[in-house]
Amino acid sequence: MPLEGPPDVEIVGAGITGCSAAHTLAEAGLRVRVHEARKVAEGASGRNGGFALRGGAMPYDRAREWLGADRARDYWALTERYLRSLADLVGDALRPVGSLRLAADTEERDELRFEYDALREDGFEAEWREPVEPPLDRRFPAAIFHPTDAAVQPARMTRRLAERAAASGVEFVQHHRVKSLEELDADRVLVATDGYPSGLLGEFEGLIVPTRGQMIATAPISEKLFACPHYGRHGFDYWQQLEDGRLTAGGFRDTDLTSEFTADEWVTPTIQEALEEFLAGLLGRPVEVTHRWAGIFGLVLDFLPVVGPAAGHERVWICGGYSGHGNVLAFMCGDLVARAMLGDTQPELSLFDPARLLATA
Ligand SMILES: Cc1cc2nc3c(=O)[nH]c(=O)nc-3n(C[C@H](O)[C@H](O)[C@H](O)COP(=O)(O)OP(=O)(O)OC[C@H]3O[C@@H](n4cnc5c(N)ncnc54)[C@H](O)[C@@H]3O)c2cc1C
Repeated sequence: MPLEGPPDVEIVGAGITGCSAAHTLAEAGLRVRVHEARKVAEGASGRNGGFALRGGAMPYDRAREWLGADRARDYWALTERYLRSLADLVGDALRPVGSLRLAADTEERDELRFEYDALREDGFEAEWREPVEPPLDRRFPAAIFHPTDAAVQPARMTRRLAERAAASGVEFVQHHRVKSLEELDADRVLVATDGYPSGLLGEFEGLIVPTRGQMIATAPISEKLFACPHYGRHGFDYWQQLEDGRLTAGGFRDTDLTSEFTADEWVTPTIQEALEEFLAGLLGRPVEVTHRWAGIFGLVLDFLPVVGPAAGHERVWICGGYSGHGNVLAFMCGDLVARAMLGDTQPELSLFDPARLLATA
């Protein structure tokens, strides 16, 4: 619905981040306009693998080393809280089925065991699986089951967040690419485009590295093979079975790593073939691929989100850089950045300060 009067805040990007932030700002009484170059959920938020995972983009034991034990524990606990709120909000777009993080070889098994031990020491729920159930045991020596994780239908989830924001009075302007900040009248602007270069952020552009993820979906398969999202090889392979029996799989960026640092959304034969072969190997027979697509996410060298005022750009805030883990992080960071824009100090955001990227650039 068009706003009455000029907007207080304008948001660029209508994915999970933009919708989450818009809702919080509108609920606080602000007039909010969201601009989207395409339609709601047509960026990564509607194209992703559907894993809703707690935690950050690094393994928990690494987070403890890099951030310190207390900050890592608080970070993980915060994401668990937001995952629960997301479940309450988006209805059947989320299935609370857990996730299975598989080790592809004995070296990765040992790494996972460190992560499992760290999670349990700090009181997080996790189950060690060794051996894993057949037929996965032929390929994977061990796994961590994360019971609090979920599978989401990402486009439906994002549209639900958008409907909720619209019900609070947010105006969505779709098919409108913002070409310059001069176009925007509001006192505050939030750029929520994650890996898609907005063209609005000056020296910040490129520090959140556009990275392509490719996916495939198969025709429905009658057997129920995978009850929850599965991922292995440091997250380079991920797949799940949807409720209608289709398998979706993504990843294999490492088969052609340099070509995947791009904002071009097309699919490539090398990675598509690797995905197809992988699924055929898992099933022991060829698969019928019905859909192929790509999307762009924003990778950050320290694997931490980038959330806060854009240093050197008056009135501009950034929220993005989830390094491929945006389903929960974008929902959480969108809410936190909105609260910070409202003037509430959010101590959690100190880790995510955008200025750190300029310091290391
Ligand atoms: C293939 C793939 C698989 C993934 N799998 C998972 C997963 O399983 N689990 C997980 O947690 N995360 C996953 N991710 C990452 C996750 O999808 C993203 O981190 C998350 O969706 C980011 O949400 P967002 O709202 O910040 O950005 P997006 O959803 O990307 O939205 C940004 C929007 O900004 C718009 N835009 C850009 N510039 C402008 C402009 N100048 N004017 C107007 N609009 C503009 C774009 O059109 C886009 O719609 C995956 C990503 C990809 C690509």
